[in-house]
Amino acid sequence: STQIQLVARPQGWPVDGDFRMTTVELAEPGPGQVRVVNEYISVDPYMRGRMNDVKSYVPPFALGETMTGGAVGRVVASTVDALKVGDVVVHQLGWRDVAQGDAAQFRVVPEVAGVPVSANLGVLGMTALTAYVGLLEVAQMVPGDTVFVSGAAGAVGSMVGQIARLKGAARVIGSAGSDAKVALLTGRYGFDTAFNYKSGPVTDQLAAAAPDGIDVYFDNVGGDHLEAAIATLNDGGRAALCGAIAQYNSTDAPVGPRNMANIVGRGLMLKGFIVGTYLQHYPAFAAEMAGWLAAGEVVFDETVVDGIEHAVDAFGSLMRGANTGKMLVQIARP
Ligand code: NDP
Repeated sequence: STQIQLVARPQGWPVDGDFRMTTVELAEPGPGQVRVVNEYISVDPYMRGRMNDVKSYVPPFALGETMTGGAVGRVVASTVDALKVGDVVVHQLGWRDVAQGDAAQFRVVPEVAGVPVSANLGVLGMTALTAYVGLLEVAQMVPGDTVFVSGAAGAVGSMVGQIARLKGAARVIGSAGSDAKVALLTGRYGFDTAFNYKSGPVTDQLAAAAPDGIDVYFDNVGGDHLEAAIATLNDGGRAALCGAIAQYNSTDAPVGPRNMANIVGRGLMLKGFIVGTYLQHYPAFAAEMAGWLAAGEVVFDETVVDGIEHAVDAFGSLMRGANTGKMLVQIARP
């Protein structure tokens, strides 16, 4: 099995020397074990946090050990009845081409005609669930709300915008880091308006996009985006704090919003969340999303990098914004 290991803790932006690719000999699957050929592995922003040696909601990656993360693959050998050769499974043994372990680590997913198996890592998986629960459960969006989402052309953000529209938002505003992405937001994902955060101060651009303010902010970015949202939220506004990617590779202490007094004066609610604590909403999400996909009411994009040997590049590209929609690494071609 070809695997990617973390060998040094990145200082600031990760570099190639922080990782190594290695070959691990696998024994024949023991009793209760299965072997899976990975078809796609996920690279996700949260993995940057796991590369640091700090206490968090997920423990750090261990140095010298193979990294883990979401993956989807196909069973090629099995010693248990519940998992059959050919089954498509999702699991957390990513960053390798072949995964092997106890059957309980692997969850069979149905193959849906017209939906690629990679969707289990995006539009039918963790990132879209994050959008769904963050918008509806955490920020408690209701019909008629004006919604702003940052990182809007990414895996989570592109779903937030579309779900908001489908759930009756009055107006959906997005920000992203290139003019091409901004064009996709309004042209493909149905945002009412969007702006390129690199073209001018976020506070000014958001104020222009939302003359009547916003009611909900879905924060993927933190920093100046969060400050701009706090400046723009209407009385009783709600923000779901999902991530703060602007600071993940920074070696400086993060700068907090300078306008926190608005939280008091306008009765705002800012609530952080981790998708893992909302898994009870998965069945409702999966049913609703399957319906939207079948009806063509949700569209999704994937940016696919080819080959386990390019997984580290894919991760770096994700952090730099080279992706539209879900960033994936394709491993095996069935
Ligand atoms: P994305 O697909 O959105 O990819 C990351 C994007 O971040 C890039 O494409 C880039 O887009 C943008 N970005 C990078 N640097 C900056 C910056 N300095 N300022 C603004 N945007 C930047 O990733 P995900 O959809 O997987 O994740 C989005 C966010 O959601 C992340 O913050 C992540 O940590 C968080 N998350 C949280 C979860 C939770 O449970 N709380 C679960 C899943 C994700 P651009 O070109 O627009 O700059």
